[in-house]
Amino acid sequence: MIQVKNVTKKYGKFTAIDNISFEVKDGEVVGLLGPNGAGKSTTMNMITGYIDSTAGQILVNGVNVEKRPRKAKKQIGYMPESVPLYTELTVKEFIKYMAQLKLVKRKELKSEVNKVIEEVGLKDVENKLIRNLSRGYKQRVGIAGALVGNPKVIILDEPTVGLDPKQITEIRELIKKLGKSHTVILSSHILSEISQICENVIIINKGKIVAIDTPSNLEKKTSNKNIISLTVEDKKGNMDKIKDKINDAKEVKLIKDNEDGTKQYQIISEENIDLRKKLFEILPKEEIVIFELKKEESTLEDAFMSLISDEKNTDKKEEKR
Ligand code: ADP
Repeated sequence: MIQVKNVTKKYGKFTAIDNISFEVKDGEVVGLLGPNGAGKSTTMNMITGYIDSTAGQILVNGVNVEKRPRKAKKQIGYMPESVPLYTELTVKEFIKYMAQLKLVKRKELKSEVNKVIEEVGLKDVENKLIRNLSRGYKQRVGIAGALVGNPKVIILDEPTVGLDPKQITEIRELIKKLGKSHTVILSSHILSEISQICENVIIINKGKIVAIDTPSNLEKKTSNKNIISLTVEDKKGNMDKIKDKINDAKEVKLIKDNEDGTKQYQIISEENIDLRKKLFEILPKEEIVIFELKKEESTLEDAFMSLISDEKNTDKKEEKR
């Protein structure tokens, strides 16, 4: 288990991480999600003991990372965002080198290297020079470097950044597989990434935790309004009075005046109210012709954006004070 307790990190006067707390249970696959500069790498670097916190405590399986770094580090495999690969080595040589750095016993070296090569799917290229590999394979080598020495926890910083869609799918599958036998923390600024791989998401923005939940709960929590997207022809301008005619419509927003004379609106209501039936009933009576009417599905993307923009709104209010 990883316990992050009231951790703050300052770079000089700048607070990059502001009093965050969370736990990751054994065997969990957790995603740190946030825009660039949110503090994901800083958080990961502190968990791995690569940089010290300014305040607070981090325990990895009960071991304090700052007080007993060697013992804590043994339990963690870390792949930083830009993996330093020795490109003139072969895949096998590099993994062997990483195993030696992690003090894998000489007797176990060969079997450990072969095990990791199998695990991450590098058998076919094990004798190739790293510089000749595709980005996807280079990323596998980076993950192999984190896995060697059999740490319980693996921490991957932006593992799919810079990969093409096929490589992304492959790395995603690999991470899912590793999640069956390891605790995994990975970071990403891409939502779909996290929701597809992780059981839990920690959303971080400007050094603060904005939410911790499962991807599906986050979707539910933030979809507290219903949006209907509507395109109409309204020659008489009757849309203006629609809000008064439908009690449950909280907001009727004009989104766009289309070139063909139609108009696009958003009709917003409370979560448990579906206005579609009402709209089909009332609009024709008002001589409004419906061209299109559909309920917008809220996505994790919306959840993320609304959580982050809530933060921004609060900031603005604070700035005004
Ligand atoms: P993320 O990984 O989410 O993109 P980082 O953890 O890299 O974010 O950075 C968080 C914030 O801390 C950013 O504003 C970044 O500019 C700042 N920062 C990161 N490292 C340093 C450093 N060594 N010195 C000063 N500021 C830093």
